Amino acid sequence: MCHVDFFSRNPLPSKPKSSEPHIEIETKRIDVAELSTNWLQAEQQRDAEITKIIDDLKTGQIDDQVAKTYVLRSDILYRKIQRNGRSKCLPYLPRALRWSVVNNFHDSLIHLGVDKTREKLFDFYWFPGMAQYVKKFVENCVTCKVAKSHSGKVQAELHPIPKVTTPWHTVHIDATGKLSGKNDSKEYAFVLIDAFTKYVLLFHTTNIDSKSSIRAVTQSVALFGAPTRIIADQGRCFASKEFRDFCNGKNIKLHLIATGSSRANGQVERIMSVLKAMLTAVETSGDKSWQDSLGEVQLAINCTVNRVTKASRLNF
Ligand SMILES: [Zn+2]
Repeated sequence: MCHVDFFSRNPLPSKPKSSEPHIEIETKRIDVAELSTNWLQAEQQRDAEITKIIDDLKTGQIDDQVAKTYVLRSDILYRKIQRNGRSKCLPYLPRALRWSVVNNFHDSLIHLGVDKTREKLFDFYWFPGMAQYVKKFVENCVTCKVAKSHSGKVQAELHPIPKVTTPWHTVHIDATGKLSGKNDSKEYAFVLIDAFTKYVLLFHTTNIDSKSSIRAVTQSVALFGAPTRIIADQGRCFASKEFRDFCNGKNIKLHLIATGSSRANGQVERIMSVLKAMLTAVETSGDKSWQDSLGEVQLAINCTVNRVTKASRLNF
């Protein structure tokens, strides 16, 4: 969906300089997963901007300082850049492939925002003005806009606790529902967020009751062991005697916090709001069941760059 709106606003995203003749660039749809090195080479050779740089490099017509920033490898043009203190050598993405590549990355990150889409792209490609291009693309993405307008309608948020620096010591639990959708079947996810690593686990459920909240925590205990404490709001599924007894049995301290209390744990809150936007985006794009999409959302949110730490929780 992103492209329709984006194109109507940005018919030619990076304009040629006024001295250059105006050339209509044919834009191609591609699947990044299929983009072989050979194809990239072929597409680069069809791109006048790139072939000119390659010719100028070969004939020594580019200033030495500038020439140093390019590399030609098996006839493919790469650009050397510095990003977040690291040097990278990235293939110069031809104009015809730009929209489709950005769209693929943004979509595969389940419509995460500008920063995350940008960071992922800078792992693989470069083209002039890429950072700005991605910003415009994401700002005009219809799926993102729909998701944002829905993420206001949310239920209980999570709240603050003293910080600990041990993974899986303190775990926030919350439930979030399917926020819209074609059918009105009730589907929910229990969200567990490790307070220290911000690692997120999602468990699908059709009920928000003690039995299903216990099942979600039991599944997480099977993965990482019992946490020292669980922070939850006063929702019935967490405040119930069954849930309290379950926590006692596992030697987990249960902290119930007032729903709507004002000092929230900023990072956990942010993860919840990103999650809700992503889950809505998943519904809006609609070719998969919501339940099936939870795994992808969990992977995407755990793998992408954390704006605070500038490090992936996982590398992929
Ligand atoms: Zn989007």
